[in-house]
Amino acid sequence: MTTNQHLFSTAQTLMPGGVNSPVRAFGSVGGTPVAMVEGRGPYLTDVEGTEYVDLVGSWGPALLGHSHPAVMDAVRATVEKGLGFGTSHPLESELAELVRSRVPGAEMIRMVSTGTEATMTAIRLARGATGKNLIVKFAGCYHGHSDGLLAAAGSGVATLGLPGSAGVTEAQAWETVVIEYNDREALQKVFSEHSGDIAAVITEATPANMGVVAPEPGFNQLIRELTAADGALMIFDEVMTGFRITEAGYWGASGRNEGWTPDLFTFGKVIGGGLPTAALAGRRGVMEHLAPTGPVYHAGTLSGNPVAMAAGVATLKNATAEVYEHIDQKAQVVADGLADALTDAGVDYSIQKVGSLFSVAFGTSATGVHNYAEAQAQESFRYGPFFHAMLEQGVYLPPSVFEGWFLSAAHEDAAVERILRALPQAAQAAAAAG
Ligand SMILES: *Cc1c(COP(=O)(O)O)cnc(C)c1O
Repeated sequence: MTTNQHLFSTAQTLMPGGVNSPVRAFGSVGGTPVAMVEGRGPYLTDVEGTEYVDLVGSWGPALLGHSHPAVMDAVRATVEKGLGFGTSHPLESELAELVRSRVPGAEMIRMVSTGTEATMTAIRLARGATGKNLIVKFAGCYHGHSDGLLAAAGSGVATLGLPGSAGVTEAQAWETVVIEYNDREALQKVFSEHSGDIAAVITEATPANMGVVAPEPGFNQLIRELTAADGALMIFDEVMTGFRITEAGYWGASGRNEGWTPDLFTFGKVIGGGLPTAALAGRRGVMEHLAPTGPVYHAGTLSGNPVAMAAGVATLKNATAEVYEHIDQKAQVVADGLADALTDAGVDYSIQKVGSLFSVAFGTSATGVHNYAEAQAQESFRYGPFFHAMLEQGVYLPPSVFEGWFLSAAHEDAAVERILRALPQAAQAAAAAG
């Protein structure tokens, strides 16, 4: 047994599936999960001492690369003074101001610890602020694992092929209306059938948990128009895309230019720089419904934890225009290399790409992927062999076809070269899969 195999078999006796988050178990790609013990720049090293170029980036937070010196220094300096006090702390406002300077629609901010908590609280706030009950979500959009948002969710729910989750009551599912993404007619129909009862439409800013799926031109704007006309709120989930697609998230590439702003944003991943921080934010008049200024309860022992705030502040301060240019450019190089390798191997595919976020969908070249039904209909059996061929050549991809590939500011030429060199053999493995 290798050390990784030994660790995983021990973990399986201690934790369900041997993991603390399902996709880490390699269920859809097979084989033994790799236990990572160190991250530097674009590289991860596993418990056996094997080095990989990392294209997961801790599922998004590692925008600057692993162990960025400024982030590590900020964390160390904060840790020296204590780990947290359960009181106000100056770094909370510093991070909130950085967020608002990038996304002016984030007029007020509440820090939480996970993206799940951010969207869960945003839903409660939307219901509390509007006095309405129904939530509209899109199939394949993942908003964390709170009960009402698990219906037809993406990410691990998609990877495991679950319709939703056991343990979610019918009553909760009833209050969530699920429609296909990019379906303008379905959206209009929901508003004509349930006018006056809809508290909010929640959407991923640009979906990236069923693989990457671009909103069709005007789709987010239609959500904005219909919610505004009906007195419902628009919740723009930027947990994945916030401070990654542009310095102002996907809103920076869409609403900012098109002249619209959601009522509420949710942020996570990059905002915590690798530590557990997320946030909900938005219009002052809505946000002030939260306790203690309003009647919608939310609290958190670790909310605004100083060490996590320090990591977030250092990450956003160092996420400069050059960082975004670099990531965009390297993502294009890797996506082009991926396309070339698959074409040369005779594999049918589409590259699903929005800004620097992209994923591959097999057997979808005719139409691309615009919604969850199309994402699920792809030839996902090709991904396991592709993934393992990359892993064997020292490239760590997301262990599911339904997840995006994450580049970072630290992916310099040597790391990108290693990815490009590994792609042809992996494309052959995808071609041979059956
Ligand atoms: C990751 C993610 C979440 C959940 O965040 P956690 O920190 O894992 O709870 C919510 N929404 C989107 C769009 C995400 O990508």
